[in-house]
Amino acid sequence: MIETAVAGLRCSEVLAQLSDYLDGELGASEVKRIEEHLLGCPNCERFGHNFGSMVVSLRRAPDGTESVDSKLVSRLLTQLDELTHEE
Ligand SMILES: [Zn+2]
Repeated sequence: MIETAVAGLRCSEVLAQLSDYLDGELGASEVKRIEEHLLGCPNCERFGHNFGSMVVSLRRAPDGTESVDSKLVSRLLTQLDELTHEE
C-alpha cells in the first residue's frame, strides 16, 4: 500500500502515535494534526468503516466506556498495522 501524507503525517506516523492520542497524552497541535489526517486521509478513511471518525469519536467518548473502547481500538490497530505492512 502506498502511504499518503495528509496534514503533514503519514499513516504509519499516525499509527505510531495513535495510542498516545487516545490516551490524551499528546499536545493540542499534535491532536489536531492526527485528527486532520484521520478524517482527511483516503487510506485511513477506507480502512474498516470510517476508521478515522470512529477513532476520533472514541477519544471524545465520555469516561466509563474505556475498557470496551480499548478492546475495539487494539483490534483496529492490529488490523491497520497489518494493512500498512502489506506488500
Ligand atoms: Zn492515513
